[in-house]
Amino acid sequence: MQRISSVYARLAIVAVSMLGAALNAQAAGLERLYILNCGEGVAGDISRWSPGVNVGVSMPFVDNCYLLKHAQGWMLWDTGLTDALAAKPEGQKPDDPRMTHWYRPKTLASQLDQLGVKPADIKFVAVSHTHPDHAGNVELFPHSMLLVQKAEYDWPGTGGAPRFKPEHPVTKIDGDKDVFGDGSVMILSTPGHTPGHQSLLVKLPKTGALVLSGDVVHFRSNWENRGVPAGNVSAEQSRASMNRIADVMAKEKAALWINHDKAQRDTLKMAPEYYE
Ligand SMILES: [Zn+2]
Repeated sequence: MQRISSVYARLAIVAVSMLGAALNAQAAGLERLYILNCGEGVAGDISRWSPGVNVGVSMPFVDNCYLLKHAQGWMLWDTGLTDALAAKPEGQKPDDPRMTHWYRPKTLASQLDQLGVKPADIKFVAVSHTHPDHAGNVELFPHSMLLVQKAEYDWPGTGGAPRFKPEHPVTKIDGDKDVFGDGSVMILSTPGHTPGHQSLLVKLPKTGALVLSGDVVHFRSNWENRGVPAGNVSAEQSRASMNRIADVMAKEKAALWINHDKAQRDTLKMAPEYYE
């Protein structure tokens, strides 16, 4: 009798550890992250992003997109400058010379193709916000579910125009969202740069936790001095969002990957290499 109950006890231990493994596997649903080149440029005067700091100093910028491979499907975070810009070797000159002169050395479509990923394979497309250096290729993915804050979706564009095609499938978010339901990819509401700006917390099995900034901050010193760009819609919300990101980084032991920071990106692996 005692032997039988010890067999049961052992079976119970095996069952519990299998359940634990299953839960771990679920938490590790995020498998890979690729950084894609979604533009390169030169900012004319970086004090535009941190008023009073580095007046008249220009700086190279990059524009990243991030492709996530999850057990449930592919997700694209930000879509970069329109692929049409790749056909213009002279790039796109800004109206305000303090802003960024952008170039598109490679298309997004060609980089996905190189990875063997078709636009139709992308389950979710999320943009940090609707500025053209982030939302330029949303319509390459007409059937992908768009994940965007309601406040951004409803923000009138030029002349009151909608920000997205009304027929594009969309999930309008009000706050944070656990994209795959396992905590591995979390959209964080970080308004201020625009009304419905959002950032992304990702938890990779080996690399660990990362916050993808969107434009909550534009480059390292801009983060350190908590600069609020002149063009942001709300300085107060911008500061609150930066503080929120700092809190999330502390709680999750997360690194901050700043979308436009060339010095940082030069230290990171670009697709087809990846993080896992
Ligand atoms: Zn931007």
